[in-house]
Amino acid sequence: MCDIHSRVAWICGEGAVDEPEHVSRALPSRYVLLGAPGVGKGTQAKLLSESLGACHLSTGDVFRAAATSPTPTAAVAAAQAAMQRGDLVTDEIVIDTMVERCRCLRCGAGFLLDGFPRSLSQAKWLDERLDQLGIPLDGVISYELPIEEIVSRLSGRRTCADCKSVYHVDSRPPARADVCDDCGGQLVQRSDDRPEVVRIRMDAYRQTTEPLKQHYQQQGLLVTVAATGSPEEIRDRTLQALGVGPRLEVCDHCDPCAQAS
Ligand code: AMP
Repeated sequence: MCDIHSRVAWICGEGAVDEPEHVSRALPSRYVLLGAPGVGKGTQAKLLSESLGACHLSTGDVFRAAATSPTPTAAVAAAQAAMQRGDLVTDEIVIDTMVERCRCLRCGAGFLLDGFPRSLSQAKWLDERLDQLGIPLDGVISYELPIEEIVSRLSGRRTCADCKSVYHVDSRPPARADVCDDCGGQLVQRSDDRPEVVRIRMDAYRQTTEPLKQHYQQQGLLVTVAATGSPEEIRDRTLQALGVGPRLEVCDHCDPCAQAS
């Protein structure tokens, strides 16, 4: 699984050289995760990453981290403004961001793409890129949940400002109010989880991202999973739907991510 250096390579694009070099491992897992905002994609990506050993690559995390820069570039400022409105970041900025991080697609452990692609143009870019690299996707997991449940999840969601662990005030409360069980960091409500912003995000999902289900269905890659129940139940349902067991036979002594550098 991703070590700290590889996480830096993803979040910062640091040293993410784009060379046509690919080192394969016996059992890399390569999936795209789709789902409306609040469906629990990020939580599932984290759990699946632990089960499968593949790297969790979230474009939302990249943009949130970039937004904290004291000297944001014009692209970062534009991305931040779009996120605050609940809009999607433009395809141009997102694809530039991915180009800088292509190395992570070649990770020997595989990847779980969380939040990318979110539009047909992004999906076509990914299809072409993976084709050039000779890396097939194993599947595209679409998490499905009724809208009322999504709204309830988003309004109660709290995220650790430090380690990004996700909680819910009712269904997954932390042991101490507003304090992360994992790292002691402060739990905050994401600014884009405010109700007025959630509505815009849902519209963007319906109009721009949901059509990707058809795109991947035509490629025979789409697997739909009900996102009801506890995070662990959803993870188990996902692994069952994919027909894979946990792939934790990753060697303790080597870092598969390092092979991609
Ligand atoms: P997430 O954490 O995946 O919910 O992403 C948070 C926000 O980041 C989204 O609401 C978008 O504004 C932006 N974002 C993340 N990934 C993408 C993407 N692939 N395309 C467009 N916008 C994105």
